[in-house]
Amino acid sequence: MNVIYMDNNATTQVAPEVLEEMLPYFSEFYGNPSSMHTFGGMVEQKIVEARERLARLLSASPEEIIFTSCGTESDNTAIRAAILSNPDKKHIVTSRVEHPAVKNLFEYLAKNGYRVTFVPVDRKGLLDLDYLYKNLSEDTAVVSLMWANNESGVIFPIEEIGTVLKEKGIVFHTDAVQAVGKIPIDLKHVNVDMLSLSGHKLHGPKGIGALYVRKGTKFSPFLIGGHQEKGRRGGTENAASIIGLGKASELAVRNISSENIRVKKLRDKLETEILNRIPNAMINGDREDRLPNTTSIAFEFVEGESILLMMDEYGICASSGSACTSGSLEPSHVLRAMGVPFTAAHGSVRFSLSIYNTEEEVDFIIEKLPPIIERLRELSPFWKKAL
Ligand code: PLP
Repeated sequence: MNVIYMDNNATTQVAPEVLEEMLPYFSEFYGNPSSMHTFGGMVEQKIVEARERLARLLSASPEEIIFTSCGTESDNTAIRAAILSNPDKKHIVTSRVEHPAVKNLFEYLAKNGYRVTFVPVDRKGLLDLDYLYKNLSEDTAVVSLMWANNESGVIFPIEEIGTVLKEKGIVFHTDAVQAVGKIPIDLKHVNVDMLSLSGHKLHGPKGIGALYVRKGTKFSPFLIGGHQEKGRRGGTENAASIIGLGKASELAVRNISSENIRVKKLRDKLETEILNRIPNAMINGDREDRLPNTTSIAFEFVEGESILLMMDEYGICASSGSACTSGSLEPSHVLRAMGVPFTAAHGSVRFSLSIYNTEEEVDFIIEKLPPIIERLRELSPFWKKAL
């Protein structure tokens, strides 16, 4: 079956160039990068190169990059490092729409002695900045806010928030897992202390992430062990995947403007045509401050899961929420926090595109989706009532 993959916020295809660069490090060059011999040193050299490539994507220095196993580990490491470095401060701040990697850690910390402020968002998914600023205090140990939302694609004003937090001397972490590779990120000009990212969201492999830690930021490792990553993350390096993430970063630098403009055009066509052809459909989230590849569309009075199943018959892959929350019948915490009405939240579908999508694929979805929604609505008692 021909697959039309539009679930790239869940995970992405490993770029062929990335795979090619990784393969020799599973077979031919298997040395330990920490070894004294030249054979291990060759792997170490490639890790140095990967660190430089990733640093370039973020406009950071290579020494500010720590490789981890995933975005979740990076988030956990950053937030725990921040609170360990500020043991007297017991207040921590995040938003209501974070990925479970941050949300569930904050809920855990709330049960373990921390006062947590969950900053709300409005109907468009935009952060309530007044609420954020009003709730900051001398007792605030860390603010952790995502750069871009995985479900709606809405982008938070990280640069502006960073300036305010720097003035107040509060540690600022951002979960940029969905932002890196999709929008330009220049850490020379944005005051974040720590930033998380994940390889599999930018055409790198799964099981590799990174944490940027600005020079001078107090840090303590989450994985305590060997001297790897300058003692900031113990454990023998996942060399092949680090090399893959480095290559993916290099490709992202190349694609970030031109390819992402093309992706945005495809997303906009998909979105506009769906709204034109299907009644009672609306976009979840702000249409301006948004990732170029993401659209979350609510189809009133139908189940998102039923839409996914019927699209699946045509090989169309999308998502009814984040991969971690699908499978549950509750509307996602993101859509609930945005105040999306129940009848719409239930019928929400996220399409997330990548550089590998084509206009033909968009046209195929535009053709197949309207009859799917029509058929499902014919079966929906709520739709009949609404007419
Ligand atoms: N943060 C965000 C915003 C995400 O979208 C994800 C994955 O979907 C993660 C963190 C977790 O990343 P990983 O799957 O690499 O642990």
